[in-house]
Amino acid sequence: MLSTMQDVPLLISRILTHGSTVHGSSRVTTWTGEAEPHRRTFAEVGARSAQLAHALRDGLGVNTDDRVATLMWNNAEHVEAYFAIPSMGAVLHTLNLRLPAEQLAWIVQHAADRVIIVNGSLVPLLAPLLSQLPTVEHIVVSGPGDRGPLAGAGAQVHEYEELIAGRPTAYDWPELDERRAAAMCYTSGTTGEPKGVVYSHRSIYLHSMQVNMTQSMGLTDQDTSLVVVPQFHVNAWGLPHATFMTGVNLLMPDRFLQPAPLAEMIESERPSHAAAVPTIWQGLLGELTARPRNVSSLTQVTIGGAACPPSLMAAFDKLGMRVCHAWGMTETSPLGTVSRPPAHAVGTDEEFAYRLTQGRFPASVEGRLTGPGGERLPWDGESAGELEVRGPWIAGAYYNGPDAEPLRPADKFSEDGWLKTGDVGTISPDGFLTLTDRAKDVIKSGGEWISSVELENALMSHPDVAEAAVVAVPDDKWGERPLATVVLRQGATADFETLRTFLAEEGRIAKWQLPERWTVIESVPKTSVGKFDKKVLRRQYADGQLEVTRL
Ligand code: ADP
Repeated sequence: MLSTMQDVPLLISRILTHGSTVHGSSRVTTWTGEAEPHRRTFAEVGARSAQLAHALRDGLGVNTDDRVATLMWNNAEHVEAYFAIPSMGAVLHTLNLRLPAEQLAWIVQHAADRVIIVNGSLVPLLAPLLSQLPTVEHIVVSGPGDRGPLAGAGAQVHEYEELIAGRPTAYDWPELDERRAAAMCYTSGTTGEPKGVVYSHRSIYLHSMQVNMTQSMGLTDQDTSLVVVPQFHVNAWGLPHATFMTGVNLLMPDRFLQPAPLAEMIESERPSHAAAVPTIWQGLLGELTARPRNVSSLTQVTIGGAACPPSLMAAFDKLGMRVCHAWGMTETSPLGTVSRPPAHAVGTDEEFAYRLTQGRFPASVEGRLTGPGGERLPWDGESAGELEVRGPWIAGAYYNGPDAEPLRPADKFSEDGWLKTGDVGTISPDGFLTLTDRAKDVIKSGGEWISSVELENALMSHPDVAEAAVVAVPDDKWGERPLATVVLRQGATADFETLRTFLAEEGRIAKWQLPERWTVIESVPKTSVGKFDKKVLRRQYADGQLEVTRL
């Protein structure tokens, strides 16, 4: 028997219409680095999104399914592109501005982008690539920056403001099939070649509802969210869409992502929430320690993208900034698990440990663990295996061109369609995920596994250590052993012996897991989305570029 309910498609245009009317007075504030930030209401963003859609369709001839890329910082115009492009039936393709040039060019060609909207300050990055981008017909430039380098480009160049000016401020958004492509994003390639994930209207809509749930980010129109996570990093973790559902104000840092301007915007704009990867927060913590500011408004910080070191969570707690740890990936839109402790643990000694886990599965995301032999492992909090997930906002394949069959590589998708995450961990009986490592980063020592993340967290809890990354290196006797690469704080006195002893104390790390190989580095190399880049460290070690001490 069929239901008697209406079948209304879940569309991004619906989120835009709702946000720009019901929450029309909420604001997108963009940091400008000048005396006053730039402010625009959701109603204005709605009107300008309609103008942008008209400009793309009538001005540039963008059709249904055409890919329109953005090479932009987090700002109001990028939010307009987020809504206009999918709502009109085209596909938003967010480009990662920190990728190496050749990878960026490869991605634009793979997606066959027809238009690129670029921030003026990023023109120097785009211009030299254009000769390799035959599919790109139009470049639309927004915001300050020299347009000079675009002279002589094969593509037509337009000014964003001129292009949208005078166009109608309403658009008759098409009633699309909710399963159609809305946006695409390539994985940042931390562990391999970039792979394209194509989100649907339905997946983004449902994911936005999850982001808004009390046990996820749980924000309301009384909140302001500082979105540091880039809009090219998995849709800024869904925040632009989710906030238009609930009227949460957005504070966008544009290109001002260094610790000092971040501290300044927190002090002057007083956001209540912020989201970014751990390395951003480590930087902010250093800044706040050196130059204390009034950050009392910021009471909730979402940390994800890489494991949150316990020392960071504890330091933020002291500043009144409560960390909520979350796990996800490009393929999961990205929200997978969120670490809200269960009621029985709140206020007890267990609470901190729960908060440090990657979090609990929401109703719409199913998780299971698979052992090395393909066997299903129990949720007992002890059996460690590869995490597999499925749900309505989890990728079921990778993009392989508009007319080609999507790719379903056997190392990424199980035969019954679950996503193999490449993350290794345990799940407790009450559904909390604890990741011990990425399958590719785990150190396989004499048939046992050593978690690189555990070693890093323990090292970073030493007061003399600013950052630490641990990678597997070949070892004649054990197969692999850990190499500890350490960034010391200014004026630090600890030597390797001291750090090794510290790791062994208070049962932090089992004796057989202690690293013998140590090196001091200036900073840990980072990926395009600010995670530790262990590929680079492994290569530097293999090339003999690191000065290693053996204890
Ligand atoms: P990339 O794979 O290129 O780094 P993603 O942003 O998609 O790009 O990364 C997803 C991966 O990041 C996950 O598979 C996991 O390894 C890691 N990750 C994300 N959140 C966390 C977290 N809270 N703790 C540990 N690892 C995390």
